[in-house]
Amino acid sequence: MQQADVIIVGGGIIGLAIALELHQQGTRVSVLSKDFAAAASHAAAGMLAPNAERLPAGPMFDLCQRSLEQYPTWISKLEDLMGKDTGYWPCGILSPCLEDGQLATRQNSTFPVSASAIHSYQSGLSQDVIGGDFYPEDAQVDNRALTQALLAAVQDAGIEIQTGVTVEGFVRQQGKVISLRTSIGEKQADHYVLATGAWSSELLPVPVTPTKGQMIGLRVPSGYGQTQPLRRVLFGEEVYIVPRRDGRIILGATVENVGFTPHNTPAGIAQLLNAAIAIYPPLASFPIEECWWGFRPSTPDELPILGAGPCQNLTLATGHYRNGILLAPITAKLIAQHIEGHPDPILNAFSYKRFHSPSTLPAPTQVPDSLPMQLATSRPAVTSPATDVSSTDVLTIAGKTFRSRLMTGTGKFSSLDTMRRSFEASGSEIVTVAVRRVQTNAPGHEGLAEAIDWQKIWMLPNTAGCKDADEAIRVARLGREMAKLLGQEDNNFVKLEVIPDAKYLLPDPIDTLKAAEQLVKEGFAVLPYVNADPLLAKRLEEVGCATVMPLGSPIGSGQGIKNAANIQIIIENATVPVVVDAGIGSPSEAAYSMELGADALLINSAIALAKDPVAMGRAMGMAAVAGRLAYQAGRIPVKTYASASSPTTGTIST
Ligand SMILES: Cc1cc2nc3c(=O)[nH]c(=O)nc-3n(C[C@H](O)[C@H](O)[C@H](O)COP(=O)(O)OP(=O)(O)OC[C@H]3O[C@@H](n4cnc5c(N)ncnc54)[C@H](O)[C@@H]3O)c2cc1C
Repeated sequence: MQQADVIIVGGGIIGLAIALELHQQGTRVSVLSKDFAAAASHAAAGMLAPNAERLPAGPMFDLCQRSLEQYPTWISKLEDLMGKDTGYWPCGILSPCLEDGQLATRQNSTFPVSASAIHSYQSGLSQDVIGGDFYPEDAQVDNRALTQALLAAVQDAGIEIQTGVTVEGFVRQQGKVISLRTSIGEKQADHYVLATGAWSSELLPVPVTPTKGQMIGLRVPSGYGQTQPLRRVLFGEEVYIVPRRDGRIILGATVENVGFTPHNTPAGIAQLLNAAIAIYPPLASFPIEECWWGFRPSTPDELPILGAGPCQNLTLATGHYRNGILLAPITAKLIAQHIEGHPDPILNAFSYKRFHSPSTLPAPTQVPDSLPMQLATSRPAVTSPATDVSSTDVLTIAGKTFRSRLMTGTGKFSSLDTMRRSFEASGSEIVTVAVRRVQTNAPGHEGLAEAIDWQKIWMLPNTAGCKDADEAIRVARLGREMAKLLGQEDNNFVKLEVIPDAKYLLPDPIDTLKAAEQLVKEGFAVLPYVNADPLLAKRLEEVGCATVMPLGSPIGSGQGIKNAANIQIIIENATVPVVVDAGIGSPSEAAYSMELGADALLINSAIALAKDPVAMGRAMGMAAVAGRLAYQAGRIPVKTYASASSPTTGTIST
């Protein structure tokens, strides 16, 4: 098999449609896909509904309209090619209203219909339906039949498609993807397309998250008198009812933010059934054929991510949320044109860059005058603590040098502005970021990645939230992509945290070692967070870790340094920098750690949760410097008895 020009990662409707379009342009394409059955494309209802969805005017509505217009031609080409029916049905969509309130707010609809009109458009509706809207241009397709037809067309065209293959990561060099790491080995092409739906953020730091939807399939009972009594899609406030010509009726869908939690639930099913029967009572006696669920690929602004990716030869086609079936033809066309070098201007509205625009926060300010008086007078006006040390005494980690020996974290700050000012006051040059939380825009992490000036601060992505080695390895890879996406092309650092226990937040030594070994092999500079265990620290150093990071006491506990003796043994034996991480609550504890001979500190909670995080940031920065100087200066030995400060010879005796 010749090497493909383009590899498409993901074989849902989007990946398959792009594959076929590119093939028809003469491009050699190959598709790698993990799991056909899990794709949202199989779970969907197949509505083609830009109007019923009431999308506001703008690029998204235009994109959906363009796709809707292409549907008839696109489908008939596919059906002619494969001789298969895809269930395309331009039946229009009725949106019934059950309450006066709803009707009043929808009076401005382009196609309002009265009570008598809606009952004549569709018989059997509940008497509670008092009017609604009609969207004659909206349509539907049997998305399962369509996806099967696309798959058959792709195979028929001789396009290489491998299923059951998981792409694990992109291997990059100088701004280009040079290969894919997959469950069956390395794969190479000139160009790559990411079309992995709700799973996209497992491969790239794009803000695509799963939104679960539960569905029910009913069937018109035999002997009912007609194969399908419903003439149109019924689009209610809490449910939609999609009739297929073959007698099936699809009810959907819940909208749940529960991650990738599988299964149908009684609550989900009850919600759909009750809402559907309230609109169309005959459904109460129709047999249930099937229940299922799927994961919509959603983005924060509910628009897809299309076009150029963070590498020259990587294109993104993901985040289609509720409209991926509708958007398949236009996505295929636009992505193929983009790869051919003729990008359509509409793609600008869907670039991934919209999530990484420069911060709209005010520019960072200097340390405020609200610092405690004695501190304000004892410090130089604007110098940061890092500048107080000798310029030759630098911290070197994996060949990269830093003047500051204080690393900080991004969690728990009251605002992004306070966070930035405290970084500045502390002089910290390395900031650790929880990849998972930034990815998912977890509370307190919204816009965080964009709020920091990554030209000045070195990102230390961390694997917080990972419970085992495999998870940590995946998140570390994602962290590397995140750093690159934010402009740090050569950043391979990762702070490795593998923490299975939520109460004490103590790291798992065995999985930490396992993950470290793998990540070092993959070229990461690994900074593992560990208990202060000298033997483990040595093992981590031996497998090639760039530092060791023993904890002073449990994360966020503020208990200070509880295991100084072990930390000291680690320091004595280490040939890589030792960074004391976690537990430090006050500057005296920070200075003490440095006096022990630690090469650096990582402090988050003690700064972020202080009454004045900016002042505490500065105090910690100064403590790191003071502790370092003290360590270098050499502490006097501890003695059992007093030893007079003044000389005892030459005293005047009376
Ligand atoms: C309940 C529900 C109802 C919906 N109803 C409608 C509707 O009526 N109309 C409409 O237009 N849209 C609807 N949608 C949305 C639509 O289904 C999606 O937007 C669309 O299917 C997304 O297609 P996709 O190809 O991007 O992703 P998917 O169909 O999810 O396919 C992604 C594929 O990528 C594979 N993959 C993931 N990670 C990897 C990896 N690392 N390596 C290799 N392969 C990988 C997966 O296994 C999967 O096969 C609905 C969705 C749901 C869940």
